[in-house]
Amino acid sequence: MLITVMHLLVVILLLTAGLLCGLPPTQSAGLGEGVSLVVCMMFAILVLALLGWPVFKLLSLRPLILPTCPACGERHINYHIPRDAWPDPVIVCVFCSKPLRLALSRGAVSKPSELPTVTPCWPGFLGIWKRVEIQQATPPQ
Ligand SMILES: [Zn+2]
Repeated sequence: MLITVMHLLVVILLLTAGLLCGLPPTQSAGLGEGVSLVVCMMFAILVLALLGWPVFKLLSLRPLILPTCPACGERHINYHIPRDAWPDPVIVCVFCSKPLRLALSRGAVSKPSELPTVTPCWPGFLGIWKRVEIQQATPPQ
């Protein structure tokens, strides 16, 4: 997992927003200090889980954890994915030089490709990846 400053800012802002959303209900319910803290933390995690991936996609941030290479099984270390490569950047393994396509949107998942493709599972910002079986791209005739 590699966290950039932008990733860190987004996660902190979403957690803070969740904490602030949790404060009014706990205060109005008159909960104890410990229970209020737990409820606020649950709100923060809920907000991060629900809004994390949409905000990451909006800002063209890659998921926090990169996938393992399907060819050699090594985890990809670090990649900067430029904004113009979205939503289906192709990364190349530094260990075996095999390409891997990241389908970062629903449209990219259904797009035919000859490359091995992975897509993030919910919540997408974490980077829990699943393999996508896509129809082979047919060569132009
Ligand atoms: Zn590899």
